Amino acid sequence: MTQPIFLVGARGCGKTTVGVALAQALGCNFVDTDHYLLTSTNMSVADIVAQEGWDGFRRRESGALQSVTAPGTVIATGGGMVLAESNRQFMREHGVVIYLRAPAQILASRLEAFPEEGQRPTLTGRPITDEIVEVLAAREALYNQAAHHVVDATRPPAEIVEAVLAALRTARA
Ligand code: ADP
Ligand code: MG
Repeated sequence: MTQPIFLVGARGCGKTTVGVALAQALGCNFVDTDHYLLTSTNMSVADIVAQEGWDGFRRRESGALQSVTAPGTVIATGGGMVLAESNRQFMREHGVVIYLRAPAQILASRLEAFPEEGQRPTLTGRPITDEIVEVLAAREALYNQAAHHVVDATRPPAEIVEAVLAALRTARA
């Protein structure tokens, strides 16, 4: 598999966890667009948003997507990467896009267990579960639009990796 693989989905769906394991299974590199932004700008997501607003963050996020896209790479994308039509189109044209799908309650319970404090401001300032329900409702259609394959991300990570590998095999068949 030399085409880049893009993992899309809401925060907590397992893009990083599954992405690392998938890259290992495929013998690919793994990159995370949020992590790339962090190291290339030397700023946290919270810093970028504070200094440049969400618009500034989204512009940098699109730039990060294009910078990390390379053959033989599994790319975990930020939860809002699909918001821009240009990002959705870029991913679909340059590789295979996988949506790791999980319902809001599961995302909320994962994020509550590991809140990653200070990593990213909530989008609305309201309780995390309310926000997840709302953000997911707004983005679900975009994740589906971007994706070549939708994978059930409620299972253990190893099973999700197997499901992605199966999807990639059908893609090549
Ligand atoms: P994302 O990168 O999509 O935001 P992460 O991979 O960081 O998601 O996972 C968020 C949290 O959920 C982490 O604490 C991780 O250990 C946990 N997690 C990820 N995938 C699963 C899974 N399939 N089952 C149970 N917990 C998971
Ligand atoms: Mg992640």
